Amino acid sequence: MSTRPTLPELADRYDLVVIGGGITGAGVLHEAVRAGARALLVEQDDYASGTSSRSSKLVHGGLRYLRSGQWRLTLESVRERGHLLRDAPELVVPLPFLMPLHRGRKPGRWPMRIGLALYDLMAGSRRSRFVAADEVLARAPGVAREALRGGLAFEDASTDDARLVLRLIFDALAQGACALNYVQAQAVAPGRVRMRDRIDGSVREVEAAMVVNATGAWPDATPGAPALRPLRGSHFVFAAQRWPLRRAVSWLHPRDARPLFALPWLGVVVYGTTDLDHAGALDAPRMTPEEAAYLLEGLAWEFPGLGLRAGDAIATYAGVRPVVAHGKASPSAESRESAIWSGPRSVGVTGGKLTTFRVTARQVLREAAKQVPQLAPVEAGPLFATPAPGGGDDRIAGTPFTWDGMRHALRHEQVVHLADLMLRRTRLGLVLERGGADLLPRIGTLCQQELGWDEARWAQEQRDYLDGWQRQHAPVPA
Ligand SMILES: Cc1cc2nc3c(=O)[nH]c(=O)nc-3n(C[C@H](O)[C@H](O)[C@H](O)COP(=O)(O)OP(=O)(O)OC[C@H]3O[C@@H](n4cnc5c(N)ncnc54)[C@H](O)[C@@H]3O)c2cc1C
Repeated sequence: MSTRPTLPELADRYDLVVIGGGITGAGVLHEAVRAGARALLVEQDDYASGTSSRSSKLVHGGLRYLRSGQWRLTLESVRERGHLLRDAPELVVPLPFLMPLHRGRKPGRWPMRIGLALYDLMAGSRRSRFVAADEVLARAPGVAREALRGGLAFEDASTDDARLVLRLIFDALAQGACALNYVQAQAVAPGRVRMRDRIDGSVREVEAAMVVNATGAWPDATPGAPALRPLRGSHFVFAAQRWPLRRAVSWLHPRDARPLFALPWLGVVVYGTTDLDHAGALDAPRMTPEEAAYLLEGLAWEFPGLGLRAGDAIATYAGVRPVVAHGKASPSAESRESAIWSGPRSVGVTGGKLTTFRVTARQVLREAAKQVPQLAPVEAGPLFATPAPGGGDDRIAGTPFTWDGMRHALRHEQVVHLADLMLRRTRLGLVLERGGADLLPRIGTLCQQELGWDEARWAQEQRDYLDGWQRQHAPVPA
């Protein structure tokens, strides 16, 4: 049975209630528990179902932030990347990058070399180097040969963003925290939170010495909350057979010189992204045909040899960046720094990056400790208190996931709906054709065994998952 508690099982009072189960909320919960706080997190949908499962998957220093002079963000990110590579090697892995250089095209060799030298300096080790054109062609088959004079090789890191959130939450639970997905919360008065369970409809109010609002791009009504500018970014997912990349590659879009990335990830290639004002609902963003056309134009510019089209993609996904509005004309000119504000017995946080979640969490707790001193973060130590769950050997063909891992998730990771299992506990819905539809009969048997779903429930879950996949993740014609 699922290990998710119900509202009546909650205590009447907590030191800290965190609203929002993305990377920011998960990071705050995790640091609070390390500080010895009695902490509760509630997420209105599934953990990481917001922006935190829809990123570019980079744990990076944000080379492009150097261009816009965001030194502090770059330095923090480079340091955090180093800590995460050390502390979470099963989740955050080194990612060798290439940037092809063509005569007559941007970026020029020297501005990039200087940027990368700074990047290396911040990381404390020399990793970047110039590589010859044949090495670029060998590592990134299909790259434009025209005027190719070589490339710059450097190192970053990548992660499974949703798994990083889940790991933080379940590690916090193992240390005594409490967390519930599918529970929507509203801070109704200083120190009081009302919550509604979206599964059984029950309602409950709890007291909290401190409430942290970590609701990302979702509006926060607490006093002092900054105006947000939700910015959508979309990605394509291609099969590695169609795009045999051996390195992550970055280049500039010919139309607006925005950086594009393609990276090998969980056996597929993720390619993006866009940066556009998002006007629609926040819970189900999707790539538009205009974004598909923009991305394909960028792809054909640097990889004309591949002949990739929208219909060749396995999947797509879109996410909405929680960016604080500073009134810049261009979305990409808006700062990606986090914002923190406070009121009576509440702290709000938004913006920032996946990479810097720990820095943000510690800043939030320092702010909270001004009112509730026992929330002060403890000295940084090893990130996780528990070992990562073992995966088993019975691999699901064509993926890095295993049937044992899936059974573990069903038993221990608060799977409420099939989409939780397919899109976040595993990423099968993104890395397999048609959202992994061919595996559903076997997965249905597992769900029936582990969660006690009957035929009618399974039929409903399948319909909901496949409809949702079609709406949000199916390849979008350009
Ligand atoms: C396209 C794109 C690419 C990106 N790439 C990178 C990258 O490569 N590297 C990087 O470091 N960063 C990247 N980012 C940034 C990063 O993904 C985000 O900054 C981060 O995921 C935001 O996390 P969050 O927890 O603040 O928001 P979210 O993950 O959105 O979490 C907020 C949660 O709050 C919940 N919520 C809202 N209201 C309530 C309520 N009333 N009750 C309960 N729950 C509620 C929502 O359901 C949501 O799950 C990218 C972002 C985008 C969009």
